[in-house]
Amino acid sequence: MPTINRYKWERLYKRQDGRCYYCLQLFSDKRNGVNALKKATVDHIIPKCEIKELEYKEQTYCNTVLACTECNRRKANISAELFLE
Ligand SMILES: [Zn+2]
Repeated sequence: MPTINRYKWERLYKRQDGRCYYCLQLFSDKRNGVNALKKATVDHIIPKCEIKELEYKEQTYCNTVLACTECNRRKANISAELFLE
C-alpha cells in the first residue's frame, strides 16, 4: 500500500465526496463517529507493476484513489477497469 501524507489524503477524500471510489460507500458515518480516514485505504487505479515507466510524480498524482478496505482487498492487483466490469 502506498503512503501519502495526510494533506493529500484529505484532498482525495474531498474529491470523492467521502465515498469509496469503487462501491461509493461512505467512509464515515457521522452518527456513530467512525473515523473516516481509518476506514479509507489508498489504492492505485492501475497496479504499480504496470506503470513502472511513469515518473513517480505522475503515479501518485493521477493514479491514486481512496477505496474502502473491502474493495481494496477484492481488487488486489488488477486494474480498476477490469475490477469494475
Ligand atoms: Zn468500496
